[in-house]
Amino acid sequence: MEIDYSDKVKEHFRNPRNVGTIKDADAVGRVGNPVCGDVMEIQLKIEDNIIKDIKFRTFGCASAIATSSMITEMAKGKTLDEALEITRNDVADELEGLPPIKMHCSNLAADALHSAIEDYMEKQKKGEMKLGENEYDVGIIGGGAAGLSAASMSSYMGLKTVIFEGSSWGGMLTRFCPDKLIENYPGLTDKITPHKLIDSLLNDVKKQHVDLKQEYVNELEMDEQFKTLRADSGTYKVKIVVLASGSHPEKSGISGVEKFALDEGGVFYLTADPSKFTDKRVLVYGKGYNAVSAARCLVNIAGSITLVTGDESFKVPEQEMDKLEEVEGLKILTSTFLEEIQGHTTVEKVSLHDLDEDEIFEIYVDAVVLATEMVPNIEIIGKLEIETDESGFVQTDKYQKTSIPGVYAIGNVTSDIDLLVVAEAQGAIVAHDAYKKLRLS
Ligand SMILES: Cc1cc2nc3c(=O)[nH]c(=O)nc-3n(C[C@H](O)[C@H](O)[C@H](O)COP(=O)(O)OP(=O)(O)OC[C@H]3O[C@@H](n4cnc5c(N)ncnc54)[C@H](O)[C@@H]3O)c2cc1C
Repeated sequence: MEIDYSDKVKEHFRNPRNVGTIKDADAVGRVGNPVCGDVMEIQLKIEDNIIKDIKFRTFGCASAIATSSMITEMAKGKTLDEALEITRNDVADELEGLPPIKMHCSNLAADALHSAIEDYMEKQKKGEMKLGENEYDVGIIGGGAAGLSAASMSSYMGLKTVIFEGSSWGGMLTRFCPDKLIENYPGLTDKITPHKLIDSLLNDVKKQHVDLKQEYVNELEMDEQFKTLRADSGTYKVKIVVLASGSHPEKSGISGVEKFALDEGGVFYLTADPSKFTDKRVLVYGKGYNAVSAARCLVNIAGSITLVTGDESFKVPEQEMDKLEEVEGLKILTSTFLEEIQGHTTVEKVSLHDLDEDEIFEIYVDAVVLATEMVPNIEIIGKLEIETDESGFVQTDKYQKTSIPGVYAIGNVTSDIDLLVVAEAQGAIVAHDAYKKLRLS
């Protein structure tokens, strides 16, 4: 019996498009019809959820070959969702109809395409997909203690990891106090400096083949499957984002701060390089552990140090204060406010308000270090609706997950628990949870 094929079917049968196989195909779909013996295989190359390349191999009659050829033309360049919407009828329509007997027997191309897409999605779910050049399982924003720990552990768990640091590796502590001894790191008491600790973390990260990018992430976008991180060197796609961007002392509003904070005028925040204070008369202003630590970091560097603590609520263990009082060349002024910073082009003196005596007085200094309340670095979150607490710290659950699926936060961006060991532990928690999500679910 002669079958009446349309001209288009005949044309695709004689000159089939996209026949063959794809080297390193991302997905394969195979279907067969046991009644007429047709077998079809479709292979896909997918980038950013778009079908970049598609090839087929078909064993069967003219309509089986024509439908395979046609569907490759229809699907190429489409997103996976769009391609999933192509039906058997659409293929037949594009071919200007198929003989009724062939509609259900040889019209299998749509099924083969859907099967290939399902194969891709299944592999994605299991984390089996080969990742492209700028594609990663985990992308970490911030190379302080928290970020480096997350990077080392994620890569150790077999996750392809990239970490970005906009300033210098190691975060605020390594920048401001590279050489002080860390006294409250369990297991390493009195034995290690921030400089050595971070060197060791960084070595670990390199050994684990983490990709290190020394640059700021300027923009973060949430796509369905991958999140996009934009930096000067390019665009990076990651399945999981870890926000490890730390915190900084809040702008104090003290008169003169803005003028002298620019152009090395003599006002510094906690992330300054300590060599800037060599032999200078330095005033450290702030409350709590950070201010005490900052003052201690300048011992043996600055010519003299005056620690000015604001009001009475100076929450530091007594033993810390006792140790500080023994330091030569260091003066502590409690219940005293910094009112104004003065000078011509650089800091020359400050006005202080003694609350007990209700008296204003001046002292001569060359530099002011502000160790005021810490506020999280969350500019990168931009317009994303991520939940924060009343102080702006990013809120997380016990696995460090934020309110946005696939985005975690760790370290000082999440709270003012200002401890290296906590920041690092949170990095490890994220790595374990990311592994569970990407490889086991
Ligand atoms: C003076 C001082 C002394 C301290 N002493 C101790 C101590 O003795 N023991 C202790 O346990 N803790 C101490 N701490 C606390 C400790 O420094 C913090 O716990 C730790 O730094 C937190 O690490 P983090 O990675 O969360 O943040 P950070 O160290 O602040 O690191 C965050 C990093 O993210 C980077 N970043 C931000 N945004 C971006 C972006 N968009 N793209 C790329 N990179 C970005 C920043 O440049 C920064 O390097 C001290 C802190 C200070 C200030």
